[in-house]
Amino acid sequence: MTPMEFDARHLWHPYTNVMDPGPMHLITGAEGVWLTRDDGGKMIDAMSSWWCAIHGHRHPVITDAMHRQIDQLPHVMFGGLTHDPAIELGRRLVEFMPEGLDRVFYSDSGSVTIEVALKMAVQYQMAQGHAHRVEFATIRGGYHGDTWKAMSVCDPVNGMHGLFAGALSIQHFLPRPSIRFDEEWCEDPIQNGLAELEQLLERKGNQIAGLIVEPVVQGAGGMYFYHPAWLRGAKELCDEYGILLIFDEIATGFGRSGELFAMDHAGIAPDIICVGKALTGGHITLSATVTSKNVAEGIGNSEAGVMMHGPTYMANPLACAAGAASLSLLANGNWKQDVTQIADQMQHELAPARALPSVAEVRVLGAIGVIEMHETVDPRVAHRAALETGVWLRPFARNIYCMPPFVMSEDELSRVTSAMVALARGDV
Ligand SMILES: *Cc1c(COP(=O)(O)O)cnc(C)c1O
Repeated sequence: MTPMEFDARHLWHPYTNVMDPGPMHLITGAEGVWLTRDDGGKMIDAMSSWWCAIHGHRHPVITDAMHRQIDQLPHVMFGGLTHDPAIELGRRLVEFMPEGLDRVFYSDSGSVTIEVALKMAVQYQMAQGHAHRVEFATIRGGYHGDTWKAMSVCDPVNGMHGLFAGALSIQHFLPRPSIRFDEEWCEDPIQNGLAELEQLLERKGNQIAGLIVEPVVQGAGGMYFYHPAWLRGAKELCDEYGILLIFDEIATGFGRSGELFAMDHAGIAPDIICVGKALTGGHITLSATVTSKNVAEGIGNSEAGVMMHGPTYMANPLACAAGAASLSLLANGNWKQDVTQIADQMQHELAPARALPSVAEVRVLGAIGVIEMHETVDPRVAHRAALETGVWLRPFARNIYCMPPFVMSEDELSRVTSAMVALARGDV
């Protein structure tokens, strides 16, 4: 059996049918924005490997930090023990966070950090004497991960987890904010959707622990960009009704939307924020749930006292070293300028796709470029196109999109946008 035959027969890949796993490239290496295949061919990773590799692959600052760490202390339990990489990353993370968000809980992945955030909210409400506040409010079109509680706040109809509807706890879904990012904001709460949130909190507020949303950019739920003013209104309402506001910045954190965090478009901070994906620059899995002193001490002063979570590999030193190195690159680099340039170039180069009859819409925000089609796009087409165009894209639903590493050159990005337009046109 060849390695590829073994892979096809024995290894599950994300969201695939074992009977028909589809085509597969064998990747043997990566450097910067480039991936190398076993046939020697190269292709540009236009996905930043699922939105993580913001500095490109194998950035020497990150790999050096990981090499040093692996020789010293690849892992040690975090219960009762601590280490420099966790402290160093914590310092940097708190510096990056808005004022007041400075209590950090590390975990392994995006989905788990969502679980932790939801548990924090429930424990906080219990501590406030609100034992009935165990449910969550969210907006349609969201995606928050694949674990059970995270699935329950994903879009219940068009999301990836509709299949499990009957097995998930019932949450409260509001329409997605209808005013787009670049549209004019309308103060009328009926028009802007905040009336529905207010009604929900008025009717069911005493059952709801928190409101969880992806600020501004809904990612895997449809690549939808909504108006930041909705978040300001939502924060006011949450404060008024004693509901914790939770921002899932796993996809958007660390510059992707053109601001350091997507919430910076709104100029507000939530009670709890979740980060993951780009936290280590795409080198190794790690996530963090960050909250305020108020929430942390609320839980601390409760009857239980402890935050009831503690992953085995919590604050893995190797991952923390990668995270600290990645944040140092952001702190010392020109990510904002890079992202602005990428945005401008994508606006310009994706625009011709608007004229294609197969295309519903083209939109760009920060280093996120989307061609939304009228019909669902078969990822297999993109798979084949990668060989022809030298650009690795992974469309989902009706979206052909890219999330380039911030270090991508102008020429490389032109190859990406041409490949996207060619795919939209049906040329490859
Ligand atoms: C990817 C993602 C998650 C889940 O993260 P995993 O590391 O895949 O568990 C949650 N929320 C958002 C917004 C994401 O993009």
